[in-house]
Amino acid sequence: MPFKCLSLYFPIIALLFSSASFSEELVDIMLINGHVLTMDAKLTQYPQGFIAIKGNKIVAVGPQTQAKQFSAVETLDLDGDLVLPGFINTHTHVSMSLFRSLGDDVSDRLHGYIFPLEKEFVSREMVYLGAELGNLEMLKGGVTTYADMYYFEDEVAKAVDKIGLRAVLGQTVIKYPQADAKTPKEAIAYAEKFIKKYKSHARITPAFAPHGPYTNSTEDLQKIAELSLLYDVPVLTHLAESQKEQTTIAERSDGLSPIAYLESIGALNKNLVGAHVILANDNDITLLKKNRVGVAHNISANIKSAKGVAPVLDMLKQGVDVGLGTDGPMSGNTISLIDEFSQVAKIHKLWNKDRSVMPAVDIIKMATMGGAKVLNLEDKVGSLEIGKLADIIVFDTKSANMTPMYNPYSVLVYSAYATDVKHSIVDGKLLMKNREVLTANEQNVIKRAHEFSNKVKELLISQGKSIL
Ligand SMILES: [Zn+2]
Repeated sequence: MPFKCLSLYFPIIALLFSSASFSEELVDIMLINGHVLTMDAKLTQYPQGFIAIKGNKIVAVGPQTQAKQFSAVETLDLDGDLVLPGFINTHTHVSMSLFRSLGDDVSDRLHGYIFPLEKEFVSREMVYLGAELGNLEMLKGGVTTYADMYYFEDEVAKAVDKIGLRAVLGQTVIKYPQADAKTPKEAIAYAEKFIKKYKSHARITPAFAPHGPYTNSTEDLQKIAELSLLYDVPVLTHLAESQKEQTTIAERSDGLSPIAYLESIGALNKNLVGAHVILANDNDITLLKKNRVGVAHNISANIKSAKGVAPVLDMLKQGVDVGLGTDGPMSGNTISLIDEFSQVAKIHKLWNKDRSVMPAVDIIKMATMGGAKVLNLEDKVGSLEIGKLADIIVFDTKSANMTPMYNPYSVLVYSAYATDVKHSIVDGKLLMKNREVLTANEQNVIKRAHEFSNKVKELLISQGKSIL
C-alpha cells in the first residue's frame, strides 16, 4: 500500500490502538494521585483522589480507584500533593503593585501619600502594567479569583483576559477628580460602559466600586445601588473602616453608623461587598446578615494601618458571609492571600484571648467557599464538586515546611508559602505548571515594572519626597 494511502487510514488505526478503551470517558485534564480537599459542605477529602476536567468544568472528583473510568488529553500525576479549590481574594487594588513599599510607615497615608501619588502616576498604561504584575503574583500564590477596585478598570480586565484568572472588577466612583473621570457622574457613566462591555465575559464580572460611604455623596451611593440592581452586578466598597469615616457619616446622618446609614439610604443589599468592616457593632452585624451583605476581611492591612480588628467571629456566628482579602499591595503588602492565613488565625486568637478560636479549617473555608459566597459566585467556584468550574490549585507537599502533614488545613494556614503552589488551573485551563506561568512572559513584566519604578523614584526625588 503506498504511503499516501496509509496516511489516509492513520486516524482510524490510531483510534483502534489508542490507549483509551471505549468504556473510558475522554476528558481534557486529569489530576491523579492527589490529596483532594474538596471544601464542599461536608469538607469531603480524598487522601488518594483524582479530578477529571472537561472543557471548563469538573466532571468527576473522587477516590483514585474511580479514575480508571477516564482517559485524558493531559494527565498530571501529583504523587500525594495537595489539591484544593483556588483561593479567592475578595479585596485588592491590583495595579497598586507598582507603588509597593512606598510610604509604608507614613501616618494618614491615604490622604497624605496615596491620593497625591495616584494623581501623578495613574494612567491607562500604569493600570495595565500593575495589573499584569499583580495577576502574576496572585496566580503564583494560588489565587484563582479576585475582586478589584481601581481606575481604568477596563485595563485591569485586559490583563485578566490575557493571564487567565477570574475576577470581579469594580470601576471606582469617588468625589475627587481622577485620571479616568473628573466627576462622580463621569465615573458612573464610565462604570456603566465598562459593565455593558464585560457583562457576558466568561471570567470577568464587572462591578461598581464606590470608594467608601464618606468619599461619595448620598445621591451617588443611591444611584449606584439602583444601577447595580438594574444590571445585577456587585458593588465593591470600603465600609466601616476608619474613625474618620464614622465621624463623617454620623455628622451626615444624625448619628448613624456607616452600615446603618447605607441601609437608611437603600444601599445595603446582596450585591454589596464591604471591605474591612472593622467598626461594626451588634446591630450592624444584624443588618449585614439581614441584607445578605458580603464582608472582605483584610487582617494584614488592618493591623498594619493600626485601625483595628473586625469582629469576624461574631459575623461568622451570625451567618454573615466572610471572605479573606489582602487589600492593595501598598497596604498588605502581598496579594497572594496565603500570607493572610496565619495572621487571621493568630490575631483573632490574641484578640479574643483564646487559642481555640479561628481554627485553621475556618480560614481555608473563608479563603475558598466563603469568598465565593461573598462575591455571589458560590454556584460556580469555591469548592471541587461535579458541575462546578475548574478553578483548582495544587500545593507541592515535598518541601521541608510542608512536612509532615498530619492536618492539611493546619499546614496550609501555618506553614505553607506562596512558593509551594505548584500548578494552577482556571476555567479548565492550565495557567501555571511546575511554577512556570504559561500565559505571560513573567520576566518581561517584572522588567517593565522595574522601569516604571525608576520613573516614580526620579519624580519623587525631584519633588524632595523621601522614598525611605
Ligand atoms: Zn482597599
